[in-house]
Amino acid sequence: MLSKKKYLEALDIIMSMYPDARGELNWGTPFQLLIATILSAQATDIGVNKATPALFAAYPDAESLAKADIASIESKIKTIGLYHTKAKNIKAAAQMLVDEFDSVLPQDKEILQKLPGVGRKTANVVLGDAFGIPGIAVDTHVDRVSKRLNIVPQKASVLEVEKTLMRYIPQDEWVSAHHHLIFFGRYHCTAKNPNCENCPVLSYCKFGKERLGVID
Ligand code: SF4
Repeated sequence: MLSKKKYLEALDIIMSMYPDARGELNWGTPFQLLIATILSAQATDIGVNKATPALFAAYPDAESLAKADIASIESKIKTIGLYHTKAKNIKAAAQMLVDEFDSVLPQDKEILQKLPGVGRKTANVVLGDAFGIPGIAVDTHVDRVSKRLNIVPQKASVLEVEKTLMRYIPQDEWVSAHHHLIFFGRYHCTAKNPNCENCPVLSYCKFGKERLGVID
């Protein structure tokens, strides 16, 4: 396993590669970030950003989305994968916000996860980006990079990855580190074709060294 000290050295390098790393979903209010993040499950941010302008123009807040017709919601998000389920979830989440939270998004990880379609990752994204509440959302990129850098066993669960990252990274860097790791996974250490040949953290990376046949 890569030590905490070595991991933080590698993370510093990764952070310097993408000084402008940030969430790439477009939103105007915390509620809209919640909806965009629910829609982004197993979909690309670019695809979600193409659909949300029409969705948010018609239904900008919890009250309007809760009252919306499912068919109308579906027509606005049908380019996004799993849109039937997602339409149901975002309408139900809006309804729950209206009924139980006075239409105000709760700033609490456990409570947020009670909303339909909201898991731990979505809750962490919303709390971090909308309210600056520290958290590390482990998506497919963060999970893959963490495993390639060998800070967790290859079979570690998403929660184990999150807990390890929280132990290693100072709390005030959680949100920023999460965005940088996503950029690194999305644009450099990609799933199918990681750019190990030109990787500034190759010397820290067990997976990359094995892949390139580098002997320590
Ligand atoms: Fe990813 Fe390859 Fe760099 Fe390792 S060496 S972090 S696998 S790109």
